[in-house]
Amino acid sequence: MMVITHVAVALLFAVPVALVEPSLAGPAAVGAFVGGALPDLDLFVGVHRRTLHFPVVGPALAVPAVGLALLVTTPLTVGAALALVGLGVHSASDALGAGEELRPWERTNTDAVYDHVGGRWWQARYVVPYDGSPRDLLVAVAASLPVLVVYDGPVRLVLGGLLGMAAVYTLLRRRLVPYFERVV
Ligand SMILES: [Zn+2]
Repeated sequence: MMVITHVAVALLFAVPVALVEPSLAGPAAVGAFVGGALPDLDLFVGVHRRTLHFPVVGPALAVPAVGLALLVTTPLTVGAALALVGLGVHSASDALGAGEELRPWERTNTDAVYDHVGGRWWQARYVVPYDGSPRDLLVAVAASLPVLVVYDGPVRLVLGGLLGMAAVYTLLRRRLVPYFERVV
């Protein structure tokens, strides 16, 4: 899935915070944004879908972090909780997409995300056929709608801009492969 889809899904978890406690809407959004985007930094450092993806540890840490934020509600605990939720959901949900390859629609590599606890790759489920597929964009838009309704200001602006980029990426995804190959 596109990193923008992961950010949109993470921000969706910040919506209830913004509705219940508007003063914490900002920290929740920042935490969600960072946690949703962070795993894919391993595109640049280490092994993609492995170095910074934690499909078991991420969700396992998110649960106590949410508990702590409910008990001790401060901007920091709420931001940290949303960051871990974003990171955990991103990591685990990558298994719903394709394997790590430049032409994921060919399905030659079914390794989707690395489970450090089990010491093995989780296999791709192809619920979202590949990053930049129409269904990927659909998930991004669907997750974004409540966020765009509840949030205004910079969150709405940034997410709207990211969705525009996601739409362009989706249009060009298959044509971009030769350029990706040159970079790799
Ligand atoms: Zn990822």
